[in-house]
Amino acid sequence: MNDIKEIISLLQNPTKEDITLIQKAHDFVQKAHEGHVRNNDEPYFSHLFSTAKNIAELGMGATTIAAGFLHDSIEDAKVTPKEIEKEFGKEILFLVEGVTKLGKIKYRGTTRYNESLRKLFMAMSQDIRVLIIKLCDRLHNMQTLEYVSKEKQLRIAKETLEIYAPIAYRLGIKKLQRDLEDLAFAYVYPKDFEEIKKILKNKKEEVEDHLEKFEKSLKKELAKNNITNFHIDHRVKSLFSLYKKLQKYEGDVEIIYDISALRIIVPEIPDCYKVLGIIHGMWRPLPGRIKDYIASPKLNGYRSIHTTIFTGDGGIIEVQIRTEDMHKEAEFGIASHVSYKYGLKEKTTNPNLVWLRNILPGRSSLDSKSDSESSTNDVPGWIKELVEYQKEAGEEFLDNVKNDFFEERIFVFTPIGDVIDLPKDSSVIDFAYAIHTDIGNHMSGAKVNGKFMAIDTILRNGDRVEIETKKSAKPSQRWLESCKTTLAKRHIRNELENNKK
Ligand code: MN
Repeated sequence: MNDIKEIISLLQNPTKEDITLIQKAHDFVQKAHEGHVRNNDEPYFSHLFSTAKNIAELGMGATTIAAGFLHDSIEDAKVTPKEIEKEFGKEILFLVEGVTKLGKIKYRGTTRYNESLRKLFMAMSQDIRVLIIKLCDRLHNMQTLEYVSKEKQLRIAKETLEIYAPIAYRLGIKKLQRDLEDLAFAYVYPKDFEEIKKILKNKKEEVEDHLEKFEKSLKKELAKNNITNFHIDHRVKSLFSLYKKLQKYEGDVEIIYDISALRIIVPEIPDCYKVLGIIHGMWRPLPGRIKDYIASPKLNGYRSIHTTIFTGDGGIIEVQIRTEDMHKEAEFGIASHVSYKYGLKEKTTNPNLVWLRNILPGRSSLDSKSDSESSTNDVPGWIKELVEYQKEAGEEFLDNVKNDFFEERIFVFTPIGDVIDLPKDSSVIDFAYAIHTDIGNHMSGAKVNGKFMAIDTILRNGDRVEIETKKSAKPSQRWLESCKTTLAKRHIRNELENNKK
């Protein structure tokens, strides 16, 4: 158990350097976390190992896997950032610090903050790999959730369902989304979970029979048409997605046709349409159930052809047709792009991506760093990955990223860890009014990140702000020039009027 070979074997064509790096990170954290145990009395190292393994399973490279081993070392083993940089370099330190920062965000359980939190994750994760590590960390925490207190279970499971799983969905990492949702489902809605499990089990037995027969005749039919280079697998709907679908159809399980589906994976796109033609020539499709996500991919980049057919023996089966690449993408989403190894030939010159450079401060220093450790693996940075991704998913994907992931917003913390979402260039004054009108109206001073600062200070992403108030304090005309939000301006004007009277 916990053998490093398990991880190495998941890498595609690892170089010697890759293996050395992973081994080094493995040994480093084994020592750093020595004597440190988790709630289930297992050594803390087992959590780091599992996180790193989850990352490797997504097909990520050695750098990300090493950062996965190290992800708790600053926070929990008191390793200094300097030491990580010295041992593992700037890039890995950047990833580890990114994950550490994400860990500090507190979930306060009210829907009001969810959207902000989601955006915050995106804004703070300037490198998509930070999020992938964090998601893999969370997956292992969910897998071992039975060992924590009931109260904590519910909080963590809810947070997983409301924040982590939707992020995995946005990034197209179906595999993670499914696992996170099903694990959390059991804790958040235990009764529904049991019920759905029963329904799924019964339904599965019912369709399995049809599936087997259908698969046999399908293979015959494809062979007759000289299609031999394909493979078939079959997937069962996840518990949580069935639950959501049942809610949509008011519990009528009979009209859900995709509880289990047959997948046909072929080499090229034209093969997909050929297979579709053969199937429709042989079995009658259900009208309105043919979806061509190859011609029009889903917003998160998903591609496949779906059709639902009558099997002729009373059964109805959903069939999904896709290429190998699409299959990989459907399971691993953006992770499958980040991990591609390609040379560092071309710099990003795509004019569509210039905005990304502008809103990703700090990233440029990493891009231009020496190539000493970046020549081996998944280094080109995620901007390059986005270029690749965009080529396939088109303009829509980019717009989606731009609007949803990196709006021109900043996210600032209250002293108790709540997140306040403000437009870029907002000041302490905007923050105070965003919390409460009275706090704005009676602000006498403020601390930003623990230091006293002028109230017209422009805030930056991740700042922690504490407002001091005095009964006698009141806004002045000058405040109007030092705030950005209409909310603050309106309240200041009102209060200036009131004070005149
Ligand atoms: Mn962790």
